[in-house]
Amino acid sequence: MKMKIESLSDEVLSCLQCGFCRSICPIYEQVGWESASPRGKMYNIKQLTQRSFLDSILRKKIDINEDFIKEMYLCLGCGACEEVCHGGLNIQDVWRKVKTWIFEQGLMNVQEYRQMHDAIKAYKNPYSEPPEKRDIALPKNITRSKNPEVVIFQGCTDSYLKQGLVQTAAKICEKVGVSFTTLGKDEWCCGSMCFTTGQTDYIKEFAAHNVNAIRGTGAQKVVAPCALCYDTLKKEYPNIVGDLPFEVYHIAQFLEEMIKDGRLELTTPIRKTVTFHDPCHLGRHEGVIDPPRNVIKNIQDITLVEMDRNKKLSRCCGGGSGCNAGFSDIAQALAKDRLNEAHKTGADILITTCPIGRMHLNQVAQNNGYIKTMDILELVERAV
Ligand code: SF4
Ligand code: SF4
Repeated sequence: MKMKIESLSDEVLSCLQCGFCRSICPIYEQVGWESASPRGKMYNIKQLTQRSFLDSILRKKIDINEDFIKEMYLCLGCGACEEVCHGGLNIQDVWRKVKTWIFEQGLMNVQEYRQMHDAIKAYKNPYSEPPEKRDIALPKNITRSKNPEVVIFQGCTDSYLKQGLVQTAAKICEKVGVSFTTLGKDEWCCGSMCFTTGQTDYIKEFAAHNVNAIRGTGAQKVVAPCALCYDTLKKEYPNIVGDLPFEVYHIAQFLEEMIKDGRLELTTPIRKTVTFHDPCHLGRHEGVIDPPRNVIKNIQDITLVEMDRNKKLSRCCGGGSGCNAGFSDIAQALAKDRLNEAHKTGADILITTCPIGRMHLNQVAQNNGYIKTMDILELVERAV
């Protein structure tokens, strides 16, 4: 059923126009336009939803311009606004519905997002890579199980651009005696990007496919090294395909559990000071705050320091929701801001646990000589 913009009327009427969201929004901080702030967006949506009875009777079309659309897409999906909203609004849900409505009206005008949507549909990944390449070669003597406890849900970025992380996850499973498999070409993009940009036309097919592929392995657990995949499988899929026949874990939770159970021992000291960047879709969206920190704290001789903005109020790295593709200047500026914040802590390394955010931060860090970045899997591999 197609999205109706009028259905958002009650939600946007609850907006108090207080502006608490504005003060925390990274997009507003960068562009400085009220209309790109969450409060401004709420105001504009309200104008769209308040149609007269006569307009509805006459089926008069809603008039929206290019700027309105662009501003709706100028959003990282970071969720910071919702964290401080005094009206208690489900802001992410409002953005998602408006973007879905824009898409269904054929008005989506961010070319880069459209290209990603088309690539995912055709290739099952946003990088237009052949699906067969998801079959990553594992290190010698490590084999996929035919009767696995766990499926490692690789995610598109780890499948094509950071294959070493999947290999490390496989090595850790082998080490702790957890049988595992991967889905190879039967793993399709989780669809996170389609949700956040409202391009949801084929998402049901993708969710059903992935759930069936996982079900087919008989595994009771799925472990995702990517924060976006984790959030999508755990939160979005049940809304589309019903209860899942398996539990979904992020790799940080899995590592924490293995350490707690005494199955994973971190015996190699790392004499470094590190800081942790909470991926928005893991910390704020899913409330997974302590597991990655507990993993880090279990490494001998390591010192963990916090950035000023951390945990639920962590600042987005700028790589979310395809922003790096659609609005690269803003994404780069936000990454620099976050890297500077990490640098101020005195840390040697910024650790994170989302391959997209890590890749984005790393590119900016390398081009500008900022702090070193590392995925939590790489850190743990060194500490084993
Ligand atoms: S989700 Fe993040 S970027 Fe989007 S409006 Fe809210 S605070 Fe701003
Ligand atoms: S904080 Fe919430 S209620 Fe206040 S302006 Fe922003 S969206 Fe509206």
